[in-house]
Amino acid sequence: MPQRNPLNRPLADGIRQLGFRKWYERELLSSHAHMTLAILAAVAMLASFEAFQGASPVDKLINTGFVVASAAIALWSLRRYLFLLMHAEELANQANCPSCKAYGQLKLQEDPAARPGPGLVPVCCKRCGFRWNLNDG
Ligand SMILES: [Zn+2]
Repeated sequence: MPQRNPLNRPLADGIRQLGFRKWYERELLSSHAHMTLAILAAVAMLASFEAFQGASPVDKLINTGFVVASAAIALWSLRRYLFLLMHAEELANQANCPSCKAYGQLKLQEDPAARPGPGLVPVCCKRCGFRWNLNDG
């Protein structure tokens, strides 16, 4: 189950409201924004290390706080970047219609009978009508 986040819709909601391709595009944009944040936080951490030289004990204590904070932000955003990227790629690898090989031309099956189970998202090809499940587990 993907992590809940107001900026990243769950797959079923994303397909319903945006379509698969837009959902995928937004997941990639979001993941790369997290990568940018990770790089900026790493630069901030290095700058905080640089500021240790010749600093007073109080400044060193404050710099230690900056190092810890920027390291935590860098680790969190790197983890989030990798999660969002791998999640989007995992689902993009399942987005080819098994019947007609169309990529990303799918819509959500809204039929209540098509509830395959937890972690599976029932989809239908827009081109040929083939039905299959995306594994979002
Ligand atoms: Zn198809």
